[in-house]
Amino acid sequence: TSAHRDFTGADPAAVLHEVYGYDAFRGEQADIVQHVIAGGDAVVLMPTGGGKSVCYQLPALVRPGTGLVVSPLIALMHDQVDALVANGVAAAYLNSTQSPTERAAVEQAYLRGELDLLYIAPERLSMAQTTTFLQRGRLSVIAVDEAHCVSQWGHDFRPDYLALGDLDERFPGVPRIALTATATPATHRELTERLRLPRARHFVSSFDRPNIQYRIEPKVDPRRQLVSFIRAQPEGAAGIVYALSRKSVEQTAAYLAGQGVDALPYHAGLDASVRAANQSRFLREDGVVMVATIAFGMGIDKPDVRFVAHIDLPKSVEGYYQETGRAGRDGDPAVAWMAYGLGDVVQQRRMIDQSPGDRTYKMRLGQHLDAMLALCETVGCRRQNLLGYFGQESGPCGNCDTCLTPPDTWDGLVASQKFLSTVVRLQRERGQSFGAGHLIDILRGASTDRIRQQGHDRLATYGIGDDLSDQDWRSVVRQLLARGILVARGEYGTLALGDPAAGVLRGETPVPLRRDVLGRGGSGGGSRQ
Ligand code: ADP
Ligand code: ZN
Repeated sequence: TSAHRDFTGADPAAVLHEVYGYDAFRGEQADIVQHVIAGGDAVVLMPTGGGKSVCYQLPALVRPGTGLVVSPLIALMHDQVDALVANGVAAAYLNSTQSPTERAAVEQAYLRGELDLLYIAPERLSMAQTTTFLQRGRLSVIAVDEAHCVSQWGHDFRPDYLALGDLDERFPGVPRIALTATATPATHRELTERLRLPRARHFVSSFDRPNIQYRIEPKVDPRRQLVSFIRAQPEGAAGIVYALSRKSVEQTAAYLAGQGVDALPYHAGLDASVRAANQSRFLREDGVVMVATIAFGMGIDKPDVRFVAHIDLPKSVEGYYQETGRAGRDGDPAVAWMAYGLGDVVQQRRMIDQSPGDRTYKMRLGQHLDAMLALCETVGCRRQNLLGYFGQESGPCGNCDTCLTPPDTWDGLVASQKFLSTVVRLQRERGQSFGAGHLIDILRGASTDRIRQQGHDRLATYGIGDDLSDQDWRSVVRQLLARGILVARGEYGTLALGDPAAGVLRGETPVPLRRDVLGRGGSGGGSRQ
């Protein structure tokens, strides 16, 4: 600990240079740092890679006392603290992974005023004895990282964050800074209120990541689509492929490896040593593709990730933005690619239905999914939709699939009416409901065992939709689901009419549908229509 330097009262620009080796502040960093050093509260909304760490670390170094950093990611504390110590900063953490002896040593260092930064998990800070202990020392600033976690309507609510609401009473006079990389206007308001920061200055950076190209294509044969996307990337490009389940992670990694891609799996079920080895290869070598669950990536500082691919639909736009945001942190061109299909919608509706939460909770999940679907099905600019979700207005970007290759639309009214009336007839005449596959079989006049057994070949709508392919129908259903014209229910994703369906059946609501095209924006594959 003797190597630590004392920066109290030093010039912030000089500290920036000495500790971090940076020549200048970036964006709003200088204003934020100055405001907090002067004792003001701050709310900072800044995208991933924007440079949030400096905003709270530098005031902690310059102000007398210890900066307390509340962070939910215990797994990352160790790395963050190591990196700081390596730069000559007296940093430490307190969490449940430490032995009582280790914790006691950190506590003593804090009480002796030797620490510049102390990282702590929110659950520990909510304990009464932690407050008493911290009050015996001197805090310079309190930083609440990932502050959106306090929002009950956000996508990543953590109950422990609610206990951070009375920090102003527990530590009066200590400036507080709340930071996040994902906040809608509603979440922004909510976190300001819940963390009780009425007098805070708000620093809202643009959420745009102009170097990331957004591409979303319909899922037909996801693995082959993924391989052709990866092959179209520059030689040696590192990337992350996100999948929802551990099984899908392992199968996809194995498939890619079989196709000659240097792919590795990463999920919480793997042995710690395997995870560490795979992560270190991803960080150190060129051209490694990490196939992972969303557990991977938080706090991973690899600036030259060239692409992020999703083969399963993220649960929210916030999640999508966070995950795709791990691409191109160095500012060079990067791609966020996703394949998304009808099965994703049905599966996620089912997961919401079966989740243990109450009605309000399910409604919230449903709203998050709806926003994500709207992004997938938009015929407008993806970036405009994405930034609009975070309350930021913009024009068409010229760097997303829909800008580069504007999607064709077609008049889907009659097709929609055919589909909806099939659902209605089965419901009214027979009290039955079915999933998309069987309904499409009826419309296309297929001759399956199930159709014959159920006598569905005698329905008035049998065969009236044979002008469209199976794939076309799936696209219709997906888009109707995304707009709430159809709703999927229960374990089997049986379809029922949503409120807007009445207007469609009466012919009053136009239904422009986007024509699915694979391989938009040059990812390979070509048009299927
Ligand atoms: P965030 O937490 O907002 O994602 P970080 O604090 O991890 O961002 O910083 C992102 C990257 O930008 C890091 O690689 C960091 O070294 C770099 N960085 C931050 N501030 C500056 C600066 N003023 N000058 C140069 N590089 C910076
Ligand atoms: Zn665009």
